Amino acid sequence: MNDSPVLWLPEDGQQKMIGFASAEHPLETGGVMLGYANPPHVVVTEIIGPGPSAKHYRYRFIPDAAYQQAAIEAHFERTEGGETYLGDWHTHPNGIARMSWLDKLTLARIAQRTEGLAVLPSMAILAGGAGRWELAAFHHVKKAGILGLRFQQPKMRIKEYKRETRHEATACRPLAP
Ligand SMILES: [Zn+2]
Repeated sequence: MNDSPVLWLPEDGQQKMIGFASAEHPLETGGVMLGYANPPHVVVTEIIGPGPSAKHYRYRFIPDAAYQQAAIEAHFERTEGGETYLGDWHTHPNGIARMSWLDKLTLARIAQRTEGLAVLPSMAILAGGAGRWELAAFHHVKKAGILGLRFQQPKMRIKEYKRETRHEATACRPLAP
C-alpha cells in the first residue's frame, strides 16, 4: 500500500495558481491553500492568492496578511468549521520546484504555529514561467526518534479531482487513472 501523502487539487486549482503566478512573473507571489484532510490525503478546495496589499520581489513576497486571515476565516465559517488552512503555496519564477532551506524552515515554523490544527501543513511550489510551469508539493510529517521528535518533509503526489466528487470516501476520484 502506498501511503505517501497526496495533495488533491480541484481541476481548476493549478490553473488558478498559474494565473496569480503569471500576473507577477518574474516576481514571486503565492498564497494559501484551504480544504480538509483524510490522511494521507490532503484535499485542497480553495486556492487563495496573495491579496491586494502583498509585496512582490524577485526572490520573496510578503502576503497581505489581513486579506489572507479574512479569507481563511470566511472559508471556515462557510464550511461550518469543516475546512481550514492546509498550508502555503508560492512561486519560484524561472526557478525549480524544490524546497529551499528557507522553505523547509518556513514549513517547520508553520507546523509549530498550527500545532492545534488536525492537519499537518503542506507547502506547494510553482516553478518556471509562461508555458513551462511545474508544480511540486511537500508535507510536514512528524517522526518520533531516539533523539526526540523530529520531522520529515516528503514530496507529495499531486492529483486532480472533479469538484462534484470531492466528498467521496478517501478523497476524490482522479481525473485520469
Ligand atoms: Zn521557495
